[in-house]
Amino acid sequence: MFRQSPRHLATYYAGCYPGPIPERARLEEDLDCDVVVVGGGFSGLHCALRLAEAGKRVIVLEASRVAWAASGRNGGQALLGWSCDMPPLEKALGLDAARQLWDSMCWAADELRELPARHGFEVDYRVGSLWTAVLPRRVGQLREAQHEALHKWGYHDLRLIEGAELREWIDSPRYVAALHDARGAHLDPLKLAQGLAAAIEKAGSRIYEQTRALAYESLPGGYRVRTAHGEVRADVLVLACNAYLDTLDESLSRRVLPVGSYQVATQALDPQLARSLLPQNSCVIDNQFVPDYLRLTPDNRLLFGGGCTYLGGLPKDVPAATRPYLERVFPQLKGVAIEYGWGGHIDVTMKRTPDVGRSGQRYWLQGFSGHGVLPTLAAARAVTDSIAGDDQLLALYQRIGNPRFPGGTWLAAPLEAAGKAWYRLRDFL
Ligand SMILES: Cc1cc2nc3c(=O)[nH]c(=O)nc-3n(C[C@H](O)[C@H](O)[C@H](O)COP(=O)(O)OP(=O)(O)OC[C@H]3O[C@@H](n4cnc5c(N)ncnc54)[C@H](O)[C@@H]3O)c2cc1C
Repeated sequence: MFRQSPRHLATYYAGCYPGPIPERARLEEDLDCDVVVVGGGFSGLHCALRLAEAGKRVIVLEASRVAWAASGRNGGQALLGWSCDMPPLEKALGLDAARQLWDSMCWAADELRELPARHGFEVDYRVGSLWTAVLPRRVGQLREAQHEALHKWGYHDLRLIEGAELREWIDSPRYVAALHDARGAHLDPLKLAQGLAAAIEKAGSRIYEQTRALAYESLPGGYRVRTAHGEVRADVLVLACNAYLDTLDESLSRRVLPVGSYQVATQALDPQLARSLLPQNSCVIDNQFVPDYLRLTPDNRLLFGGGCTYLGGLPKDVPAATRPYLERVFPQLKGVAIEYGWGGHIDVTMKRTPDVGRSGQRYWLQGFSGHGVLPTLAAARAVTDSIAGDDQLLALYQRIGNPRFPGGTWLAAPLEAAGKAWYRLRDFL
């Protein structure tokens, strides 16, 4: 089990946050509300905001700080789609229902673009993402993705970039082609989470930090959540705990495997050098089985990630572990100073499909498998629609079906690691 700490990690986002990161009191009394949300990451915050705006009295319980975990530490890439891509979703749901899910992802992309301005906060939103191919034999995958997007999902915003034109988008010898998504984007995730939290409070709901939900029980017509210094009684319970759910709900936590993921931020680069690396300021993720992902920040740093670890650990020296991969993409940055290195945990399901659903008035959102900036918002819509009485979207997620990991996480982690090692080897073959 991972323990949350009371302070934000020393990430680039926390280090460069404009002003002190807001802190909120812990729960010290017994309260009643309509919906209690456990977890102050994107999943919980998006649900809470939508519910608060719909007039519900919401209480968010966060064991550490708002966006202390993955939501405040990620690569900031708001990419359309899910970690599993569309084939497993189409297989589970059929073409028409998978198309409805895809449409909800397009809604999430539009919503995320508009939401900060609607609530009066800034997230350094930049439009455009590249999905790059390292291996010539995987350029076909980009072509197929573009073809399927157009013909199956009605998505017109992808463009294949090849040959000399590629250097106008990314100055790296590593890539042979890229698929540009005009609706993909990148942003500062900690600013997004704090903006959402402020909007939730403005809408009249409450967030308690340093308040771990220790247990919950169902009551006639609701739920009671116990914390160290108070209880919350609510009609509806939303569990949005990601890789940290653990014993709070073992039936759910057995379906996700916590995997470590890490990234770095360089020193602020000379603006011209930064612009020469990524002339259109797109964010980038490659199509290797273990992908590298990167982007520029507004102050011209390169954020670069890609490594992952199992059994909960992270490399002792994240910059040293990451530098060879960064310099492989941009040899022109050889020896560049790396000022931040950090990691976090992602919640991987067996098929990398999202795990979102309900049982009675207990809802959950998890299993985003390392790709959650937009999927958490799409899932929050499904959950909040259902709480408002419209189950249509949530029913799609519930048809996906996420099995438990065989043997629990102690067996799942080495199996997943072995599988990943095999796929990483295939990246080289
Ligand atoms: C290094 C890294 C890079 C990533 N990069 C990207 C990217 O570029 N693009 C992308 O789409 N996705 C990315 N992701 C994934 C993305 O960040 C996550 O999918 C998303 O943030 C998940 O949000 P969440 O709210 O479900 O979980 P989290 O952000 O992990 O939030 C869960 C919260 O629940 C709290 N909690 C847990 N248990 C309890 C309890 N019992 N009581 C109270 N609170 C509790 C935790 O403290 C935590 O704050 C990345 C993840 C990592 C770690």
